[in-house]
Amino acid sequence: MFIDKIEIYVRAGNGGNGVVSFRREKYVANGGPDGGDGGNGGNIIFQIDEGANTLLAFRYKRKFAAEHGGNGEGGKRHGKNGTDTVILVPRGTIIRDAKSGRLLHDMSDGTDYVACRGGRGGWGNKHFATATRQVPRFAKDGLAGEEQTLLLELKMIADVGLVGLPSAGKSSLLATVSAARPKIAEYHFTTLEPSLGVVDLGEERGFVMADIPGLIEGAAQGAGLGHDFLRHIERCRLLLQVVDVSGLEGRLPADDFNTISGELEEFSDELASRPRIVAANKCDLLSDGTDTPEIAALRTLTEAMGYPLVFISTATGEGIRQLLLLIEQTLSALPPITVYEPDAVPMEETVEEDPQDTVIRRDADGAYVCEGKWLERLCGRVYFDDRESLMYFQRSLNNAGIIERLREAGCEEGDTVRIFDIEFDFMD
Ligand code: GDP
Ligand code: MG
Repeated sequence: MFIDKIEIYVRAGNGGNGVVSFRREKYVANGGPDGGDGGNGGNIIFQIDEGANTLLAFRYKRKFAAEHGGNGEGGKRHGKNGTDTVILVPRGTIIRDAKSGRLLHDMSDGTDYVACRGGRGGWGNKHFATATRQVPRFAKDGLAGEEQTLLLELKMIADVGLVGLPSAGKSSLLATVSAARPKIAEYHFTTLEPSLGVVDLGEERGFVMADIPGLIEGAAQGAGLGHDFLRHIERCRLLLQVVDVSGLEGRLPADDFNTISGELEEFSDELASRPRIVAANKCDLLSDGTDTPEIAALRTLTEAMGYPLVFISTATGEGIRQLLLLIEQTLSALPPITVYEPDAVPMEETVEEDPQDTVIRRDADGAYVCEGKWLERLCGRVYFDDRESLMYFQRSLNNAGIIERLREAGCEEGDTVRIFDIEFDFMD
């Protein structure tokens, strides 16, 4: 069983609730408010697992939730922050929003990706005491954590992708030139999982080679194994097409070459036009040498396409070194491996977040209340016990012109400003 595309559901933790509490001390009749804040909910974070090259781990576990933040307590005690949930994926996993198909992140560069943020903890009543309101009998609930259904898709990171019919000798080649140990067998379709191998040419020179299951004719129409696997080599810089030229299976090398080329074309023109080298394998079995009509026919095809043709035998090692050097030389002239950029957020989603839509009004107690979709989002992203985050909040309000508008509305130093679950004194 091989899984390289799967939908999972992830949910960050909710923020804990703030509490209402008052200081109780001997001889102090009415202590001040001391209700602590709720802890923040845990985040959902993706991390690369260098040892993995399939998404098999998700076969039985497709739901992930991070811990909720703890509620605040009296004595100004802060609730415990929820623990993040770390999801390990193979390098090269593409994360998409399942609903829109939008590409969110490419797990290629080794940095972690925070897919869902935990909800911020609510403020305890200790925050709500003002000169005029000394007994705040309310606190704020924590915000809900973000949730999302994600589509994980594996696109391996390799410089060279091996393609060829089953039993052409792809796995044998990878095993010969790297420390990878893919399964090698006489029967077809043995390779069910792609494998990666590092080809070490010494002096820090080398490249990564990927072996994917053999393509069979009609694979691009979904007739059998193969089609799905082409996705893995989509970002390889170079294709190495392995052709069995021994004739032992009773097929013509030129036909095999055309079969694979046809499958690549059907999958995508882009992949079919990727730089390519052709390796004629199993030369040790050629009793008449390479000067035969069958091999001449293959040569005619590859020359027409401009693909170099190299004769090798993974069994005897013949031609392998030359092949590797040619690959290295070819790669040096090619652009680096593609890293997919996140798709832009579609217009509808950005429109409803326009800070200009913010409405400012006065509450009965005189406080200035600011409301709007953009602000709501902003508040959900800010952690008020984190200085950086708080500065970001202030900067955002400033840049969006909200501070200026408050001023225009008559808000002065010391006035109360309320933005969703946050309340602060205006400072000019
Ligand atoms: P794949 O399906 O393309 O990965 O092919 P494998 O690497 O599994 O090889 C299929 C069969 O061909 C195995 O029995 C290998 O031992 C054999 N084989 C691979 N390369 C050579 C070669 O250069 N010479 C000979 N004689 N046999 C080979
Ligand atoms: Mg194989």
